[in-house]
Amino acid sequence: MKNEKPIAIIGAGLAGLTAANYLHGQNVPFILYEAGKKIAGLATSFKDAEGFSYDFGAHFITNRLAAAIGVGDECLTVKHYGEAVYLKGKTYNYPFGLVKIPRMTWSGIKSKLAKNGHAPASAAEWFRQSYGAALADEVALPLIEAWSGAKAEDLSAAVGQSLPGSIGKTLYLKAASKVLGRAVAIGYNREMPETASVYHVYPEKGVGSLCEKLAAGLADKIKLEMPVEEIIVENERVVAVKAKGETTEVAAVVSTAPANILAKLVKGTKALESFKSFRYRPMIFVNMRFEGRGLLPDTVLWLPESEFPFFRLTEATLSMPWLAPAGKTIITVDIGCEKGDEFWEMDEDELTALCLEHLTKIIPGGREKFLGANVLRTPIAYPVFLNEYETARKDFERSSGIENLLSIGRNGEFAHIFMEDVYWRTRKKVRNLIENI
Ligand SMILES: Cc1cc2nc3c(=O)[nH]c(=O)nc-3n(C[C@H](O)[C@H](O)[C@H](O)COP(=O)(O)OP(=O)(O)OC[C@H]3O[C@@H](n4cnc5c(N)ncnc54)[C@H](O)[C@@H]3O)c2cc1C
Repeated sequence: MKNEKPIAIIGAGLAGLTAANYLHGQNVPFILYEAGKKIAGLATSFKDAEGFSYDFGAHFITNRLAAAIGVGDECLTVKHYGEAVYLKGKTYNYPFGLVKIPRMTWSGIKSKLAKNGHAPASAAEWFRQSYGAALADEVALPLIEAWSGAKAEDLSAAVGQSLPGSIGKTLYLKAASKVLGRAVAIGYNREMPETASVYHVYPEKGVGSLCEKLAAGLADKIKLEMPVEEIIVENERVVAVKAKGETTEVAAVVSTAPANILAKLVKGTKALESFKSFRYRPMIFVNMRFEGRGLLPDTVLWLPESEFPFFRLTEATLSMPWLAPAGKTIITVDIGCEKGDEFWEMDEDELTALCLEHLTKIIPGGREKFLGANVLRTPIAYPVFLNEYETARKDFERSSGIENLLSIGRNGEFAHIFMEDVYWRTRKKVRNLIENI
């Protein structure tokens, strides 16, 4: 890097802190601007006075990520992780329990035998071609629609293509989990190989401790409560950023802000114009505390049927018993919503009552076991891959359009990536950036 000006990093979540930590290691000057009062973003962990712990988004990290960041010794091994689907009052192990339902098997075979002359034009077509109509229409597509808030016909086929690998590989990794007695990570990494020796762990002090470790020794370079208001571009190069009215000249910008927000922050260019329309799905997470354990059939329960206002339940204590006091549990309820809709506008008591009413269909005596709840909301949980901006999304995958402006991290890349991939991809992209400016 020839330029002596600092690099501005926007956002102190896992991606921004990975970038900061990397630049620090390379002796490259930087300033990290964070809009909020604290670091960690979506990787924030909470612990209440009664001993219940929960994380904002991320629960499951890998031993490889923990070791790379330097918190491997502070982690507990996750011994089990499993998913199930609730369908017509019964639960099925996911994915192989569903395959045993004759109509699902039959339509899956039919789709494999059918000659599909054209590439799928939507997520709906992709799922029907890949899994068969029964599994697609009864399970995959309702879940995709609840999760994204869009019709499967309007979503890009890339939604399906971004799912984890082959059935053969999944079978092998699941078998390895059983033999080794630890939750081998399946579908959590693309940057590095998935192998039986990469499994889930949990830092004793919560997922947020990854961010604390990355930020260690960098406090003087992290500016909290300093939202970047403008990224100033001249002749198609970033020259400065403006935060709290103060303009600072910079060599480059590494942004972790959502892609559509980034497009609005940039002044002096039209290069990012088409990214302004990208949409994110807001989510509400209701963390409900109960007496007892094992209230769900497995760690995650998917609910494709529209009678439920939520599409996923997670009883994280089935994988990580230490997240609640002995004999108690915590279930996270995921409700997909839009900002300002009836769910977004509900207060905590209304949301809790709604969840409890529906949970009693799945958890007998749930009301009597209920101990209390807490609600978290985010307007930017998942990038939504709409077909209407698929060309722009593919352009953005390649580049922000400005050579010295990197957009990294989950919302920054507008990609469904987990923390390990965020980590490796960020390091690689930042290394390329400093070699080229
Ligand atoms: C429901 C859910 C479950 C998940 N589960 C897992 C899991 O089990 N395992 C896993 O590995 N990953 C999981 N993830 C993904 C993981 O949480 C993210 O990949 C990771 O936390 C993203 O980090 P980030 O730094 O890219 O973004 P963020 O954490 O969103 O950080 C971005 C930061 O930028 C700041 N910012 C935004 N705009 C500005 C501005 N203008 N100026 C200054 N600062 C700004 C924000 O305040 C924020 O702190 C999950 C995500 C979700 C939503």
